[in-house]
Formats: sequence, C-alpha cells, structure tokens
Amino acid sequence: MSNNLIRAYAAMQAGEQLVPYQFDAGELQAHQVEVKVEYCGLCHSDLSVINNDWRSTSYPAVAGHEIIGSIVALGSEAKGLKIGQRVGIGWTAESCQACDPCIGGNQVLCTGENVATIVGHAGGFAEKVRAGWQWVIPLPDDLDPESAGPLLCGGITVFDPLLKHKIQATHHVGVIGIGGLGHIAIKLLKAWGCEITAFSSNPEKTEELKAMGADHVVNSRDAQAIKAQRGKFDLLLSTVNVTLNWQAYLSTLAPNGCLHFLGLTLEPVPVSVGSLIDGAKSVTGSPTGSPLALRQLLQFAARKQIAPQIELFPMSQLNDAIERLHSGQARYRVVLKADFD
Ligand SMILES: [Zn+2]
Ligand SMILES: [Zn+2]
Repeated sequence: MSNNLIRAYAAMQAGEQLVPYQFDAGELQAHQVEVKVEYCGLCHSDLSVINNDWRSTSYPAVAGHEIIGSIVALGSEAKGLKIGQRVGIGWTAESCQACDPCIGGNQVLCTGENVATIVGHAGGFAEKVRAGWQWVIPLPDDLDPESAGPLLCGGITVFDPLLKHKIQATHHVGVIGIGGLGHIAIKLLKAWGCEITAFSSNPEKTEELKAMGADHVVNSRDAQAIKAQRGKFDLLLSTVNVTLNWQAYLSTLAPNGCLHFLGLTLEPVPVSVGSLIDGAKSVTGSPTGSPLALRQLLQFAARKQIAPQIELFPMSQLNDAIERLHSGQARYRVVLKADFD
C-alpha cells in the first residue's frame, strides 16, 4: 500500500451522512508537512462545507480544520519543525508567501494563491492531513492536546481582534453569543484581565458563564437589558450568525468603541452613520489569524492554562457528533478523537 493513501470520512454529496473514504494524496510537496491526526474539533464551518452552503464545495469533501496531531513527514523545504513534533493546523493550509500581506506577516489576508484546509483540500476528519509548513503551528508541551484543537479556529478567531484592537486589562469587552467561539472568548478575556459582559439568548447558561469568567450576563434578545448597557463597551465581539438589533448594540459602545463581527451574519447590518460619527465608533470584522498570532495564542493559552470546554467523540462516530452540534446542546465544542488504528 502506498504511503500516500489516506483514510478519511467524507461527504459524497450535500446533505448526506459522512462515509469512510480513502484517497491518494500524491507526493508530499517540498514546502508541505504531513501530520498524523490525533484530535480534530468540529466547527460550524465544517457543516457549511459539508452542506455546500457557500456553493464552493467539491465532493467528496473531507472537512475538519481544528487539528492536533504529530508530524510524520516533512518536505525538503519545510523549516523549523521536526518529525514526531506535536502541532496544530487550523482554517488555512497554504498561503502564497509572495503577496504584500504575506510578506507583511498578514498571511491570513493573502491575496495570492491560498488554500483553506477544507475547501478544495482534504481536512482533518482523516488519519493524516497536509499543510504548508508556515501554517503548521508547534503545540507547547503544557497544553492539553485533547482540548487544544478548537483554539486553532474558534480560538484564533476571537483572539486576533484583541491584538488588532489593542485590548488592555482596563477595557470592558462584550461577547455576543456564547457557543464554541464565545466561550473561548470569555476564557481568554478573563486571563487578559478585562471586564467581561456575556450576551446570551439562553438564561440557563448564566451561572456557567459566570464560573467561566463573565462578570455580567445579559439576555441578548432583551431590548431593555441591552438598552441599559448604553455607552459601556470598548469592544463588542459578535460570534452569532443571526440578525440581532445591531443599532441597539451600537448604542452600547463607549466612545472609540468597536462592534467587531466574527460570526457570518448573512443579512446586511443597518448602521446609521450618525451613530458612528458621534463618539468615533466603528464596525469591523475579521477572519481567523496569521501564523504568528496562532503561535502567540497557543503560548498564551499554555501559560494561562486556557482550555476550551469540549465533548469528545470517537471520529468513527462523526455523524453522531454532527447531530450533537446541530442540537445546540453541545457544551461548548465537539472534538473528534481519531480511531483509525
Ligand atoms: Zn472553523
Ligand atoms: Zn499571499
């Protein structure tokens, strides 16, 4: 059997259950690294690709992009990594390394040829996965590999805005939507030293969110409760993909405050320009983060012992895991443990 054959779980068509699938990955390229998958988180974007929500899926589709594993093969041009080293791979598998954003260290904004781990590329619901060496992130020894996977996509998505917006311990940050992303945001902000308000539509989570580090919990659908937050937040992170009363949320920003979108809300967001001019407020968004930010996140998480709260499933039960994510009951991220052997 050739070394380039990889066993995986694939969607053969939109909307169907995942099935065992084996493919020939071809020769490992000089700049690539091959990683044997140990764990892989389940992110909403995996479902979007499996179901072809973005009309860009080619089948068979192997999803999975919150990958923890160890290096089993290195291309001749791969740098700074060793065989056997434990690493993580997230949303991005390759960037061009030649465009201005790549040269400037903003590889996540690559305008040249770039490859997402699960779009036109086989992801981590597999025994092995490949990526360009820059996107293969060393895992610090004291970070728990079982729960670290969700840091590689959900985690970096909420961490990067803290760097970009220069968030400090004196700032008050609101997190809208406390699921896979939002719960990691609370844990990161707690370690960061900020005052934290969690906006959740589920009042049953209140005590849990306070135990996690939230100073305040507000019902995200209670107009009066939101109104009472007027002028408070230096940064609001939205992790939801539904439409909320954005104008009301804008009014909760402090002067120079920013409403930052991470969840892909599909409907346009109405913003009155007056509400931006008055108080110099802004509305921004970002995708995941670049390799340096990923390294900084993993080191920070190891030092502060920040671990996503997960539910573990064997990878062979991926369809049950997807069902669990759909149910909205998962606390707070589902992780698959590879069980091919
Ligand atoms: Zn993701
Ligand atoms: Zn580039």
